[in-house]
Amino acid sequence: MIPAAVAVLNLEAVQHNLSKVRSCAPNAKIMAVIKANGYGHGMVRIAEALRNVDAFAVARVDEGIRLRKAGMSNRIAILEGFTCVEELHELLTYQLEPVVHSLAQLDIFEARSEQQACTIWLKIDTGMNRLGFKAVEFAAVYQRLKQCSIIRQPINLMTHFANADEVDDAKTLQQINLFNDTVSGLVGERSLANSAAILAWPQAINDWVRPGVMLFGISPFPESTGQQLGLKPVMELHSRLIAVKPIQAGDSVGYGGRWICKQPTTLGVVAIGYGDGYPRYAKVGTPVLVNGQRVPLIGRVSMDMITVDLGGITDAKPGNAVTLWGEALPVEEIALWSDTIPYTLVCGVTQRVQLVEKIG
Ligand SMILES: *Cc1c(COP(=O)(O)O)cnc(C)c1O
Repeated sequence: MIPAAVAVLNLEAVQHNLSKVRSCAPNAKIMAVIKANGYGHGMVRIAEALRNVDAFAVARVDEGIRLRKAGMSNRIAILEGFTCVEELHELLTYQLEPVVHSLAQLDIFEARSEQQACTIWLKIDTGMNRLGFKAVEFAAVYQRLKQCSIIRQPINLMTHFANADEVDDAKTLQQINLFNDTVSGLVGERSLANSAAILAWPQAINDWVRPGVMLFGISPFPESTGQQLGLKPVMELHSRLIAVKPIQAGDSVGYGGRWICKQPTTLGVVAIGYGDGYPRYAKVGTPVLVNGQRVPLIGRVSMDMITVDLGGITDAKPGNAVTLWGEALPVEEIALWSDTIPYTLVCGVTQRVQLVEKIG
């Protein structure tokens, strides 16, 4: 029996994608970004598949603690840092390395007298205008952090790009130049590049790279698929047909009755919906694979089901296999049809979907 709504994970593809990172950045250390439950793939499972990386990065302290409790001994950076003394205490207990981006964090550090217990990543805001210190305040902040006995020296230095996925946009070079000018002469290790920069901005590759989405075989660029970049998708989302029936010209399908049948055809109902993380805004025409053949989505996506026009497939039956995205149907393509980015699709797969590891 083919189950409804399963995400099949090809963990061998993770190592393949890691080798692509290494070929783009052969001399850099790799900090694998596995926040948000490993981009929806299962954080601990992905960490186990990536045991040979130099470090992991997650967004939040609780994600880092979960990795430690699962037995990971790699270095772990916490990209959002901490906001209170209690969280700093947890960072120290679990040997996690916070990103330091705010004056409030400095005040917390300065109140401590431990010796050299905390490795940090000092973040410079070079144009993203989200987290980090501005170049003009950097020197003063750096001096204060140098005086903190709790902070291990030398301090690691990082920034994050706003537009690295736009390969013609000069902003990334401006960010790289501002970063290099700001940290010039300091001895700490440097980290700039996310997936898009690893693939498109060799000037951004430094002591450390921070790949996220590319490890999952997904392209960071709107104009290409991961497969076109030599990556292999890790996740395939599958379900099954649960009903097959004729519909007549003039019949409307689904909530709102927005799609109206123009000529007699065969309708297929698939057990997948936004309750599984299939995008609610997928447009009519979004491709779906039924028994390996492409058919268009029709009508609105509902919570548990979608409807497709089985048209030419004469032998489709309830129970047949359906693929929503995967090797033969890039998730990047589904993202374009849904006016979103593939990151949101894989992150959005819900609890109801079984995650299973592909064998062999
Ligand atoms: C999420 C994140 C990354 C990884 O980005 P991708 O586009 O998935 O490669 C790298 N650095 C920081 C600071 C991040 O928040």
